[in-house]
Amino acid sequence: MKILIKNANLISMDLKKEKMQKNIDILIENNKIKKIEKSIQEKADKIIDAKNKIVMPGLINTHCHVPMSIFRETVDGLTTQDWLTQKIWPMEDKLTNEDIYYASMLSYIEMIYTGCTTVNDMYFMQEEIVKAALDTGIRLEVSRTLMDSDGKGDQKLKELEEFIDKYKNKYDLISLNVGIHGLYTNSEEYIKKGIEIAKKNHLKVNMHFCENSQEVEDIKEKYNVKSVLDPLEKYFKDVPLILAHSVKLTDEEIERLSKLNVSIAHCPVSNLKLGCGIAKVSKMLEKNICVSLGTDGQGSGSNLDMFEEMKFSALLQKGTLENPEAMPAYEVLKMATINSAKALSLEDKIGSIEEGKLADLIIVNLENVPYARPYNNILAELVYNTKGENVETTIINGKILMENKKILLKFSPEEIYKKCEDIIKRIS
Ligand SMILES: [Zn+2]
Repeated sequence: MKILIKNANLISMDLKKEKMQKNIDILIENNKIKKIEKSIQEKADKIIDAKNKIVMPGLINTHCHVPMSIFRETVDGLTTQDWLTQKIWPMEDKLTNEDIYYASMLSYIEMIYTGCTTVNDMYFMQEEIVKAALDTGIRLEVSRTLMDSDGKGDQKLKELEEFIDKYKNKYDLISLNVGIHGLYTNSEEYIKKGIEIAKKNHLKVNMHFCENSQEVEDIKEKYNVKSVLDPLEKYFKDVPLILAHSVKLTDEEIERLSKLNVSIAHCPVSNLKLGCGIAKVSKMLEKNICVSLGTDGQGSGSNLDMFEEMKFSALLQKGTLENPEAMPAYEVLKMATINSAKALSLEDKIGSIEEGKLADLIIVNLENVPYARPYNNILAELVYNTKGENVETTIINGKILMENKKILLKFSPEEIYKKCEDIIKRIS
């Protein structure tokens, strides 16, 4: 299958190239980007005219709990702890495999609709999350999340190891990591076991870290340490880490963090909604820490629109630092694309539009969008005036999953909305 995209305004996120190139053609062959040139004269099975539109890499969400789509808007007015213990955990106990499948489907439809092509998940009943990803064609990084505070830790370790044996290197679209819920929800011994599994299988660890002040206090007490960095330095020295949030860190702790093999999944909307605070992203970038973007689950993050996360990321840093030069638009775009690919160790495959890379890309159409005209600065338009709904076409692994806003799946999205409404009615 060959797809030829013509006349695009290309924002490739290839850091060696100009930030935007005009009138470019892109030839996709099977699942790869074969050629990027002006006026490609090759025959193709499908031609898409992208005149006056923007072609950019598919966005990459590095922190999410995919099946939590069904918990959208259940948190307003609650603290994180009350929300989890009183609302979410009792409902999660009632979820069946089929529920997880349909709830995941809803998130994947939302991703395709808003131009997100890869997601890093942290949840359980992961085989259903994988099945739904394969049925939709979404790129997924996934784990069986470890947590032993409920006394069922050993069972989870067993499930994780079986999952890794069964799925490692099996599908192009699926990569794995070791999800550890957090330092505060796990014993030291259990954390060590999780790290062992990661090392044995050459996988990253994906973990929540310092989301709020309470968590910082809990970690200090549980590990009997002065700084939250102490347990990280002690146990995670030689394992790559993706840390979600990292809101409550001092400058000195950020300095120490920069010495580890770590990337941060910044989730500004969720952090604001749960009243957690604002991560010092500019400081982290200054220290050469790879900062990527995540939405968190819809329960706390509301939706999976990565354009929204980009806008919040930029505005929050400018505002809190009282510095309009903080977080230029291109830096923010990097966070949602190439930095996110690096965080998932997939930068050789995705995160930018380059010949030889996998064809994960989106077409944004701002032509009839009054709040984006005139086009004075396309990079800034993408960060400040573009919404997920302005994504017109989504291509993942060389497959068109949405064209002209029409989602091309075997089932209708309406079926999935209905299934998810039935699930939440039943379990709440
Ligand atoms: Zn989370």
